Amino acid sequence: MAPVLEIEGLQKTYRSRRRGTRRALDGFDMVVEAGQVHGFLGPNGSGKTTTLRTLLGLIRPNGGRMAILGQEVPAALPTVAGQVGAIVESPQFFPHFTAQDTLSLLAGAGGVPQRRVAEVLELVGLRERARERVKAYSLGMKQRLAVASALLKDPKLLILDEPANGLDPGGIREMRSLMRDLASSGMTVVLSSHILGEVQLICDSVTIISLGRRVAAGPVAEVLAQHSGNGLRVRLE
Ligand code: ATP
Repeated sequence: MAPVLEIEGLQKTYRSRRRGTRRALDGFDMVVEAGQVHGFLGPNGSGKTTTLRTLLGLIRPNGGRMAILGQEVPAALPTVAGQVGAIVESPQFFPHFTAQDTLSLLAGAGGVPQRRVAEVLELVGLRERARERVKAYSLGMKQRLAVASALLKDPKLLILDEPANGLDPGGIREMRSLMRDLASSGMTVVLSSHILGEVQLICDSVTIISLGRRVAAGPVAEVLAQHSGNGLRVRLE
C-alpha cells in the first residue's frame, strides 16, 4: 500500500526585499505510513510550517515532489482535498457562538450533512459542552474544537500544526487520547511540534527536521534512543 504521505527532496527558498533570501527547505524528505500518529519534530524556524503549507498547496515549492494517498500534489489536490483535514493556523472562532453553532456553520459551508456535527463533537469529547459559548472554553477545549472542525469531512489524513502548543499536561494527555482514538479508527495523523516530550507522549513515529532537512525518522522510541544526547532539546513534563 502506498504511504499516506510522501515527500522527496522538497526545496523552498523565500525571497523578500525586506528579509532577503532564506532557504527554509533544503531537500526535505518524509514518509508517513497509514494508521500512524506521526510527529513532525523540529525547533522553531526549522521548516515545519513551510512543509505543511506547501503540502496543502498554500505555498509553491522550488523543487522536489509530494504525494498524498498515492496521488501527486499539488496537481491532485482538488481530488484528495476532501480526504485531508488540516489546521495549519490557529483557527479563529466567534467567541459568542457555541461549539454546536460553530460546527453547524462550518458543516453548512462545506456541504457536510448536519448529523456529522454530533459525531465529531462526540469524537473530540465536547458533546456535553457543545451548547456553551466558545469564549468559556479552555485552550484545550478550543484545540479540540479546532480538531473537530478538521474532522467534519471524515478525512483519511489529519494534519495539525502544533496542536498541543500551550496546553498543560492534562490538555496534552487529552490530546494524546484523542489522537490515539483517531488512529485506531484508521485515520493517519501528522502533528508538528517543537517539543520532544509532546511527540514522545502522543506519537508512534517521528520525522525530525533541522534547517530544512530530515535528520532522523522512524518509530519514536528508536529514534529518540539513537539521538538522545545528540543535541535534541528536551522538555519533558
Ligand atoms: P515555527 O515553529 O516557529 O513556526 P517552523 O519549523 O514551522 O517554525 P517555518 O515557519 O517553516 O519553521 O520557517 C522556516 C524558515 O523560513 C525560518 O527561517 C523562517 O524565518 C523562514 N520563513 C518562514 N516564512 C517566511 C516568509 N514568508 N518569508 C521569509 N522567510 C520565511
